[in-house]
Amino acid sequence: MKKNKKILVFNVGSSSIKYSLFHNLKRISSGNKERLKTKHDYQKAVKEILEKFKQEKINLIAHRVVHGGDLNKPSKINREIKNKIKEFSEFAPLHNPKQLMVIELIDAEGDPSGKKNSKIPQYALFDTMFFSDLPEVSKTYAIPKALTKKLNIRRYGFHGFSHHYVSKSLKGKTITCHLGSGSSISAIINGKPIDTSMGLTPLEGLIMGTRSGNIDPGLILYLEKKGYNTNEILNKKSGLKGICGHNDFRDILQKMNKDKNCKLAYNMFIYRIVKIIGSYITAMNGLNNLVFTAAIGENVPRLRKDICKQLSFMKLKLNKKKNQKNKEIISSINSKVKVFVKKTNEEQMIVEEVLKCL
Ligand code: ADP
Repeated sequence: MKKNKKILVFNVGSSSIKYSLFHNLKRISSGNKERLKTKHDYQKAVKEILEKFKQEKINLIAHRVVHGGDLNKPSKINREIKNKIKEFSEFAPLHNPKQLMVIELIDAEGDPSGKKNSKIPQYALFDTMFFSDLPEVSKTYAIPKALTKKLNIRRYGFHGFSHHYVSKSLKGKTITCHLGSGSSISAIINGKPIDTSMGLTPLEGLIMGTRSGNIDPGLILYLEKKGYNTNEILNKKSGLKGICGHNDFRDILQKMNKDKNCKLAYNMFIYRIVKIIGSYITAMNGLNNLVFTAAIGENVPRLRKDICKQLSFMKLKLNKKKNQKNKEIISSINSKVKVFVKKTNEEQMIVEEVLKCL
């Protein structure tokens, strides 16, 4: 591994920019710009971040890009890579366009030390990379093969850095639950992912803040026939928000004792999670480790308890106190399955990957 690299990581979301400066594998600074709406907001944020690190000799900027299609390793950004990011925007419309916009804004700013024409090399690392080698049975959709080939249709999977980060030290059969405003679950054997709940797009799988997750494909056909904008409905108006009007999980937790729709949203969220966990246990023929991560997975003991209750048939036992305190290992010592709460760190994983490829 090359020594003495300063790497600035950008994690651009649909309304925020998280950023971290690393010296090799050590994070030395980080921050978050939130509530960004217009291109001008993003431009201002980019300027401020680059200004903040003006004195640092940054060697490269690494971007988390949600959809990389067939790109399965860290890629130095050039015209071709930008075109690819644009091409796959269709499958990640909330993220890829914003991420590309920030890459171009940085290009336009030049070097943060002030030299306009000396650009710092930028690299794109894709959320889909971790799943590039899924087995054919899990990555293939049962649609005509010719279409699959022509349009590059497959299960790509997302939240790859998070699933990778929280599972990398675990041996055996592992299920990782990344539960945030976007949520996904992966099945991983000895570090190698064999299935994941998000698919061609981040819409498949679990019920999310505003996304429906799995539904009958016939429902989409029906809504379209009736003239509804299914893209808008399924991505922005469904999920927890569609069921109870709230997409912030804290609101749901607070209101569910009195509001029956919030209770239903909570119960459906859990039910879908345990169904997918159950399917992965059978796909792997067993389970050694169960990991909870991301804002909801890391912070809601009640949710972990309700999920684990459904796994008592496997002699999975929680240690109540440890669960309540969000400790790293929350299973009891005689549990047949180890249960973890791991704080995810996508930026750390991005830096490890980019350093590996230099
Ligand atoms: P994103 O997927 O956009 O990165 P996060 O992982 O930050 O989002 O997850 C946001 C979700 O997590 C929201 O529904 C929010 O209500 C929920 N959340 C954040 N912190 C907590 C907490 N301490 N307890 C319960 N839910 C939380």
